[in-house]
Amino acid sequence: MPTAKSEKKVVTLAYGCQMSERDADTLTEISGQKGYIPSQDLEHADLIIINTCCVRESAENKILGKIGELKRLKAINPQLKIAISGCMVQQPGALERLRKRAPHVDIWAGTHNIHEFQRLLDESDERKVAEVWEKPKETLESVPLAEKGKLKAFVNISYGCDNFCTYCIVPHVRGRERSRQPQDIIEEINALVKTGCREVTLLGQNVNSYGHDLQPPYDFADLLKNVDSIPGLWRVRFMTSHPKDLSDKLIEVIAAGQHLCEHIHLPCQAGSNDILLRMNRKYTREYYLSRIAEIKKQIPQASITTDIIVGFPGETEEDFEQTLTLIRQVTYSQAFTFMYSKRSGTAAAQMEEQVPLDIKKRRLQQLINLQNAQSLAWRQKMIGHTYEVLVEGPSKANPDRLTGRTRGNELVVFPGESRLIGTLVQVIIQDASSWTLYGELTE
Ligand code: SAH
Ligand code: SF4
Repeated sequence: MPTAKSEKKVVTLAYGCQMSERDADTLTEISGQKGYIPSQDLEHADLIIINTCCVRESAENKILGKIGELKRLKAINPQLKIAISGCMVQQPGALERLRKRAPHVDIWAGTHNIHEFQRLLDESDERKVAEVWEKPKETLESVPLAEKGKLKAFVNISYGCDNFCTYCIVPHVRGRERSRQPQDIIEEINALVKTGCREVTLLGQNVNSYGHDLQPPYDFADLLKNVDSIPGLWRVRFMTSHPKDLSDKLIEVIAAGQHLCEHIHLPCQAGSNDILLRMNRKYTREYYLSRIAEIKKQIPQASITTDIIVGFPGETEEDFEQTLTLIRQVTYSQAFTFMYSKRSGTAAAQMEEQVPLDIKKRRLQQLINLQNAQSLAWRQKMIGHTYEVLVEGPSKANPDRLTGRTRGNELVVFPGESRLIGTLVQVIIQDASSWTLYGELTE
């Protein structure tokens, strides 16, 4: 019997990467244990959680705007609890600044202590609470999700990052890299599969270096092989791969895997060796291209995606041209493109020769134009061919049609009955835009 307590509603918003989404799910689950039911309805929520991102200034500004908007809801309903968690709160010195700016917030939590959220919720009955641990306590991190019935799920395999790319705040707010125990990961996936999950995405800032801290020795290739053989699981994805750690052996394992999807997200970030060095990416353009060549050799149908930053400090027109030529050479199915954003506390923030905003904007637009054409060409090549699609639900843009993804992670829209949701179907592609494939069921 539902009690009055169980009728309370929680709305959780996640900004930023898949890790943030996964953390947001954990927070929703923990609030569920306190009787909060997940909802999308901000106006009638009893608890609003925002899991934040600080990887770029634009994300921070968007989140600050959202937190400001919540003041109105708090004025209407003083019982409403507002909780802000994640990377933005974890930045050194950020908490005091944020608390002053948003006194209507009830709970502040960093990235390392979200698993203590139940206690923070309890304490917030009495007073406003703020807790940001400087370092993680490992045993608390690996809280599996008991979420039921989701077709697709994210599963953390490692936390933090050791790479210290000079532009990036992630190692500063998520700590050093630590791998979860393989048996915990496998157990979590087994439990998800039992509740109807058919696709998992293994998450880490650098999945390729998974296991470097484990005893007995066990690496990402070992993990992929083990996850691939979990009965009832149809698809395995993973991100993000760091080019410096993508070995031939690993590509071989991906190529041989039955359920391992032929999609590799391999951020290049830039095409110029000078910029790559200043970014501390620890590979050259030539090495990156050798990884691409190896992928194409072993997995000819692989869909490769990337992240690219324009306007890194010191990037000349020539450097930028090299990013454009790299993109032409690789032919990515999709690219996530960003203007460099100065993050305080990172090495690049101290670098001279910051690129003016108008130049960054122009380069970004040039890059987007090129990639849009490349994405379109990539999808047009798929016309006339048939692909396996995992049906996810009605298409947002065309609700009378279904949508799903290929193993290469391309989005497909096609007519079909709703009973197909959650199944694998074969779709022949008939038309394409830069972002979407359109087709028909073949059986
Ligand atoms: N661990 C992943 C993702 C890190 S954050 C990786 O190594 O690829 C996701 C992306 O945000 C990065 O790949 C990078 O392209 C971008 N990014 C990170 N810091 C940035 C900054 N300061 N300005 C602009 N883009 C940034
Ligand atoms: Fe940031 Fe580089 Fe680590 Fe990715 S690998 S999280 S870009 S420091």
